Amino acid sequence: MSKIPFVVRIDNAPHAVAEQVSPTIQRVIANNPSKFTYRGTGTYIIGDTNVVVIDPGPLLDSHRDALDEILSNRTVQAIVVTHCHADHSPLAEWLKTKTGAQTYAIGPHADITGLDIEDFEDDPDEDSQDDAEKTTVSDEPRETIDVAFQPDVIVKDGETFFDSHGITLTAVWTPGHTSNHLCVAYAQEHALFTGDHIMGWSTTVVSPPDGDMRSYMASLDKVINRKDAILWPTHGAPVTEPIEFLQAYRQHRLEREQQIIDALQIGPRNIQELVKEMYVDVAKALHKPARRSVWSHLIKLHQDGVVVVANGSDPKLKSLYKLKT
Ligand SMILES: [Zn+2]
Repeated sequence: MSKIPFVVRIDNAPHAVAEQVSPTIQRVIANNPSKFTYRGTGTYIIGDTNVVVIDPGPLLDSHRDALDEILSNRTVQAIVVTHCHADHSPLAEWLKTKTGAQTYAIGPHADITGLDIEDFEDDPDEDSQDDAEKTTVSDEPRETIDVAFQPDVIVKDGETFFDSHGITLTAVWTPGHTSNHLCVAYAQEHALFTGDHIMGWSTTVVSPPDGDMRSYMASLDKVINRKDAILWPTHGAPVTEPIEFLQAYRQHRLEREQQIIDALQIGPRNIQELVKEMYVDVAKALHKPARRSVWSHLIKLHQDGVVVVANGSDPKLKSLYKLKT
């Protein structure tokens, strides 16, 4: 299958307008740029008159009003949610009420009450970041969870859950970014909507306790083996050479894992120390989410029997880690 003949803008893509990004796909980018969302959340609309909407997006008046306008005179047949982060699912309820369409997802967000969501205190070092950066990015080290979302239809991995008006959609369960993360295969264009499993501009945040690096790596392999012609991430540009891109994406994770092992060869380290060493070239604003990513690698290495916690406890965000001897 040849490359799509459309020039798909992203760095300067407009907010709150429908861009025709393929013969049957439109994208509407919400005006919620951040360190997690890049230009903003991309809501996808598949079809012409009878459409399916993927990830209606955040509770943002300008985005809701744009969708209201763009979807007027069209019939929304289904609303699909890739996962329950606050930039993806919250407008699903409004769209469902407005259109009567059912919502589809792997499930609600996992219940993480009682699980370890600890974090570090603010690091005085990070206050030195420049003011411009501070005003454009959130200080929140994690993505906000939309705990209220409950799908009408729970889809199963591998299930063709929608097949109508020339739109055939199959569920590809891809736990890792969240345990309920869903990618959506669109048969007519050999395309995969990848939510936050694959980003078009950056690597994905894998943040414990619900984020899980071991699952994430298995889900990457699952997508590599599918051989889709194109990937449509919620954030960033489409991926038009999926195999090369995904292999590089996977390799990047393996290199991060090896960096951790190399650092621990020198001696025991905590996560703050590891991040300072490993992310020396990365903006300090990204160090907080990076700590959670390194934590997810350490949990995996702990499960793999490569790393232990110095005091023998479970792998926590503030633990001291060393290589298993
Ligand atoms: Zn997310």
